[in-house]
Amino acid sequence: MNDEELFEKIMNKELTICETCDNIFEYIPQKLFCGECLRDKKLARKRKHYEENREKKAAYDRKYREENLEKMKAYQRKYREENREKINAREFARYHAKKKQEEE
Ligand SMILES: [Zn+2]
Repeated sequence: MNDEELFEKIMNKELTICETCDNIFEYIPQKLFCGECLRDKKLARKRKHYEENREKKAAYDRKYREENLEKMKAYQRKYREENREKINAREFARYHAKKKQEEE
C-alpha cells in the first residue's frame, strides 16, 4: 500500500493513524489509539490508581496508628491514675521480693 492509497483509506475512514505511535489500524469511530497504546494507557491508569490507593492507604494507616496510640496512651494514663495504689503496692511487693531474694 503506497502513501496515496493510505491517505485515501484514511480519508474514507477505513483506516486510522494512532495518535501516539503512528500505527495504522482499522477505523472505528472515536477510536484514536491503536490496541497497543490503549493497553499501555489502561496499564498506566491502573498503575496510577494503584499508586494513589497505596498512598491513601498508607496515610490512613498512619492516621489510624496515631489515633490509636493516643487512645492507648490515654487508656494507660487513666489506668495508672485509677489503679495507682494497686500498682504501687504491686511494685512495692515486687521490690521487696527481689530484695529478699538478693539477701538470701
Ligand atoms: Zn499506538
